[in-house]
Amino acid sequence: MGDVILVTGGTGLVGKAIEYVINNEPEGSRFGRKPGEKWIFASSKEGDLRDPEQTKALFEKYKPTHVIHLAALVGGLFKNMKYKLTFLRENVLINDNILHTSYLSNTKKLISCLSTCVFPDKVEYPLNELNIHNGPPHESNFGYAHAKRLVDVQNHAYNEEFGCNFTSAIPTNVFGPHDNFDLEDAHVIPALIHKCYNAKKNGTPFVVAGTGKPLRQFIYSHDLAKLFIWQLREYDSVEPVILSVGENEEVSIKQVADAIVKAVGFQGEYSFDTSRADGQFRKPASNEKLLKLMGGFEFTPFDKALDDTVAWFVANYNSARIGKPKA
Ligand code: NAP
Ligand code: GDP
Repeated sequence: MGDVILVTGGTGLVGKAIEYVINNEPEGSRFGRKPGEKWIFASSKEGDLRDPEQTKALFEKYKPTHVIHLAALVGGLFKNMKYKLTFLRENVLINDNILHTSYLSNTKKLISCLSTCVFPDKVEYPLNELNIHNGPPHESNFGYAHAKRLVDVQNHAYNEEFGCNFTSAIPTNVFGPHDNFDLEDAHVIPALIHKCYNAKKNGTPFVVAGTGKPLRQFIYSHDLAKLFIWQLREYDSVEPVILSVGENEEVSIKQVADAIVKAVGFQGEYSFDTSRADGQFRKPASNEKLLKLMGGFEFTPFDKALDDTVAWFVANYNSARIGKPKA
């Protein structure tokens, strides 16, 4: 019997990207499907992972040998600020169910997805895999951050007590096709693409939240998908790996907004609403460990990835996740 890889959260931004890479890279290549392998991309409709019984039923149905665990309550800065307890609680429940069911089912390997939000707010830059627990995370998303940090603690405990092969990935901000483009709850790139698209369509101003000065590192979802597949195939340690572009590739929110204006072809009025939060000023992460282990990786240039994402959104507007009623 070949391996069965269960991707939880398989219908989201990152899950869809892994599905794309697995279906499009040549079979047997570094990022491609292996002969005989079966990939399952599960949505919440297949089982609500906050519930232990539904989680168990999902594992009994597919009998995964490997799990890439992406399912989570996810959102941008403004959603995180509004629902701190919900982010903490739902993600703790989901993660605990997946880790414990993976242990009970003798899963050969489990990779869970963290985020650079887990890192302390006040810490030496660039962030690296060794300083996750060295101080409190930024207050804007402490619910989500603590839930994700706990996965690293659990991974070590499952490994030490039961010998489980559990590990984690730490991506920076992700974007790409199939993202959540909700105007208020999404991350910055999909939210601004949708806002700029509406501004162009309706002849209204394009308003960016905050000062535009904070810096972020962005990774294209198709690149991140390849890095997850690398981690599944070639990495066997409980310690997390940051999956990111280089620490010198930070982009300001204003640069992001400028690039979106260009990609959308918007020519109207464009401003910053400085009454809205900026969140963490920056959180540059090092990809030194990743590149050393992989022996190099070619990331998609930011402008190309952004153009492709905007083109995908425009072409798929009627089926994309756009949240509230269409403007
Ligand atoms: P996403 O597009 O919002 O997708 C979330 C996925 O999780 C969906 O497939 C959703 O299923 C599933 N899900 C949510 N609640 C669930 C539940 N209770 N039971 C079962 N499935 C549930 O998220 P994403 O951006 O792909 O994020 C994937 C992972 O990357 C997450 O762990 C996230 O924390 C991490 N991450 C994301 C970013 C980013 O910028 N997006 C950055 C760093 C880390 P349905 O489709 O059925 O709703
Ligand atoms: P973060 O990296 O976890 O803070 O998440 P985001 O992807 O939500 O990025 C937040 C940054 O983008 C902050 O500096 C916001 O002020 C800025 N930003 C500008 N406009 C928007 C918007 O429409 N939505 C979101 N989520 N952030 C925005």
